[in-house]
Amino acid sequence: MKNEKCVNITGLDTLDMPQIVRLELSNTCNLSCPHCRHHSPQKKADDNYEYYRRPIHMTEEEAGSIIEEVAPYKASFTLNAANEPLTAKAQLFAIRKVKELGLAGLFNTNGLLLTEKIARFLVDIEFDSVNFSIDAMTPETLKKARGISTLDKLIEKVELLINERGERMFPRIGVTFVKMDYSYHEIPAFLEFWKKRVDVIRISGFIKALRPDISILPGTTKEDLPERVPCKQLFREILIRANGDVTPCVISAERTNIVVGNIFKDGGVRSVWHGKNMQKLRELHNSYKWGQISYCAQCDFWVESFDMKDEERDGFLIRTPSPYTTFYNVKEKLDNWNKNLHDRQGMAGLS
Ligand code: SF4
Repeated sequence: MKNEKCVNITGLDTLDMPQIVRLELSNTCNLSCPHCRHHSPQKKADDNYEYYRRPIHMTEEEAGSIIEEVAPYKASFTLNAANEPLTAKAQLFAIRKVKELGLAGLFNTNGLLLTEKIARFLVDIEFDSVNFSIDAMTPETLKKARGISTLDKLIEKVELLINERGERMFPRIGVTFVKMDYSYHEIPAFLEFWKKRVDVIRISGFIKALRPDISILPGTTKEDLPERVPCKQLFREILIRANGDVTPCVISAERTNIVVGNIFKDGGVRSVWHGKNMQKLRELHNSYKWGQISYCAQCDFWVESFDMKDEERDGFLIRTPSPYTTFYNVKEKLDNWNKNLHDRQGMAGLS
């Protein structure tokens, strides 16, 4: 990565409300991917953070209160985090609510629970964007990545939504691929295959052992990093779990019990967003003392705070915020592209 050592981000302001709300409407999933920490026995241990010890679903009332509170600020919503959104009881309610209030939304799904009825609902409601996690070009690689071999089934589900959409514009449909040592070589074929079918392909770097260390990404070293800057995640996004707990960012969300407040117990989104715990983290970042925060000290994901780099090649508008994330937007399918939604930070592959 060559760049931006000269880019100057001296300090970031706290917005009135987050621009991006990541809402994990349940802590449940229908798969047990081998790399996913959420299924580990340690997570479910009796002495661990209680959120992971039993299935939890946010209620429609709770989800509605969050969406209504931020709606006047025009935040956009990612309606999943580390869960499978189509297992969440309030998922369809939240999708409807987001659109009723004129907001933009997306979710990432393994797609297996997508039915014709849900696909029609997403098209009829003109939901903005759905990304399918595929991660493989062969059943063998899929088995390693997701613990299942039914690649044809996943492809079928993406095609179900494509067909249901027909000539209509929404949702914008994407597929994602997390680069692993065993799958990296499949990326060219993956791009070629999906370019003919979907609107966007996102390739994400893998984050190993909870530490976003950029040097494990192929072709990248620590020396390539620009000078470190405050991390945009803390100033632009909020991640809310199904029990209302808020964790500072997508990376800390992977550590079980980092909680800066609770939406339902601490007075709502605004109150937690401006609460002393979030403000303390922001102050440390704006004074370049991120090393005092254990999870930030070890994290290179702040590098996504810089602007995207653009390149047009092979029929794609390729947008790259950092070596962790690359969006391959199919050039002839940009009509449904929304800058506020599709330029957001990718959720890199985590394990
Ligand atoms: S530096 Fe990493 S851990 Fe810290 S807020 Fe940013 S993304 Fe999260």
